[in-house]
Amino acid sequence: MTKYIFLTGGVVSSVGKGVTAAALGKLLKSRGFAVSIQKLDPYINVDPGTMSPYQHGEVYVLDDGAETDLDLGHYERFIDTNLSRVCNVTTGQIYSEVISQERRGDFLGGTIQVIPHITNEIKQRIGLVPRDTGAEVVLVEVGGTVGDIESLPFLEALRQMRSDVGKENTFFIHVTWLPHIGATGELKTKPTQHSVRELRSIGISPDAIIARSDYPMGEDLREKIALFCDVEPKAVIPLTTTDVLYEVPLLLEREGLGQYVLSRFGLQERRKPVWDEWEQLVAKDRTRRPSVKIALVGKYIELKDAYMSVREAVRHASLAVGVDAEILWLHSAELEKGKGWQELETADGVIVPGGFGSRGIEGKIAAARFARRNKVPYLGLCLGMQVMVIEFGRDILGSEDTNSTEFDRNTPHPVIDLMPEQRGIGNMGGTMRLGVYPCVLVPGSHAGEAYGVPQVNERHRHRFEFNNNYREVMAEHGMAFSGLSPDERLVEIAEITDHPFMVGSQFHPEFLSRPNRPHPLFKAFLQAVAERAARRNTAEAEEELSDRAAA
Ligand code: GLN
Repeated sequence: MTKYIFLTGGVVSSVGKGVTAAALGKLLKSRGFAVSIQKLDPYINVDPGTMSPYQHGEVYVLDDGAETDLDLGHYERFIDTNLSRVCNVTTGQIYSEVISQERRGDFLGGTIQVIPHITNEIKQRIGLVPRDTGAEVVLVEVGGTVGDIESLPFLEALRQMRSDVGKENTFFIHVTWLPHIGATGELKTKPTQHSVRELRSIGISPDAIIARSDYPMGEDLREKIALFCDVEPKAVIPLTTTDVLYEVPLLLEREGLGQYVLSRFGLQERRKPVWDEWEQLVAKDRTRRPSVKIALVGKYIELKDAYMSVREAVRHASLAVGVDAEILWLHSAELEKGKGWQELETADGVIVPGGFGSRGIEGKIAAARFARRNKVPYLGLCLGMQVMVIEFGRDILGSEDTNSTEFDRNTPHPVIDLMPEQRGIGNMGGTMRLGVYPCVLVPGSHAGEAYGVPQVNERHRHRFEFNNNYREVMAEHGMAFSGLSPDERLVEIAEITDHPFMVGSQFHPEFLSRPNRPHPLFKAFLQAVAERAARRNTAEAEEELSDRAAA
């Protein structure tokens, strides 16, 4: 019998419910259980693929091409299992399915209502997870906060599931926030009590409370929450904000959450969890390492969540390389106006991440030009690869009008162009080239060396591609096409041969980076960054010494 853990949020949003779900998944997986995690998102979009990153943060792409919530990135990074399309459900998906059933006449003249039709569809989507992924334990995170109107049908479906699959097979966790009152230095439990009361009013009693806070919580508060919220004291799990994300599973482990959940399910752990690798990861993150600066040139930098996986991939690689990477968030539209260049010049590496639309594009192209001419390590991710090709094209073709047709339909040199399959597509949702595709690597290239294998699978999300009419001329001038689709029709990786590391991939390597298994391209990039930083530091030190000698 599948076991279900339902996570709801209370008091405020953004307290790390997704990370908590991911970390609990890890506790159970490391005890020998097959685990999967599903996110229920209450918005009406069918998926986040059509939403602005300002609204929603990053769109995370799965192997099967599903465009999902960024929490799925946390899930995959923590439980290290590749998830599937069934793991992200939105209100939009539920309604569009029920409405198309109604149009087909499936309901035989019945009146279609939230209960039972919408809730049935929600329950059926939850049931798809064990069927599709083989998970024995399914964690289900409900987006938003209890009390929101839009998440009510989801909560009602979960309430019904408790009796559908049996109380012994479900476990409710409410993740709340304890505000800190500066004047008295106290943490407050009242909002948690109110939020649990709200949850009760819709028929759900939590089995455990995870109490997030910025300051450590005392025993007295644990007792108090247990008493008011009707859970055992050991089911009140304090989770103080940590500076190291990957410490969260260790903190929950220390509080005995994994063991507690299993015991409530009547399950025995199949093996003792081993935490050495994650403890080392956290310890490494806390040790002083030589610092390096990486400029991330994007147009959504006001919202760092828009680059969640890129940031994590940099973190994974920098831990492996043994440096402390500071990201300089540079706005491409500002660079365009001539601002931010001084900061860019202090960077030992440049990343141009994915993006859509022409705003700030010239700033990105200028950043790529800066990196190529000054031999600063550069990593281009999807749009970042296209930008690198445009910049190089402008140089060797001698025309500043060289462009992608995404930004200039009438460019005389469309070095990046719409993929033939994309022509005539009018529907914006879910119609890009999405998901995992194979890429054959050229041995001896930067990319080939970084991966050390002949072929890889990587995740994609784009409409435009390298225009093959320019392959020959670019190759003659020093651009190598070091990753191609197996039929050699699509350029997947481009690089500059006469450069310490200037590599761009049409895919998104950041989605496959894991804390203990950094992505090869990020790792090779970070190595190049570290070498440049070391050289620069020695040069600066030498200069200082000779200055002093002269004085
Ligand atoms: N806008 C570009 C395209 O559609 C790049 C997409 C991306 O960076 N994900 O091809």
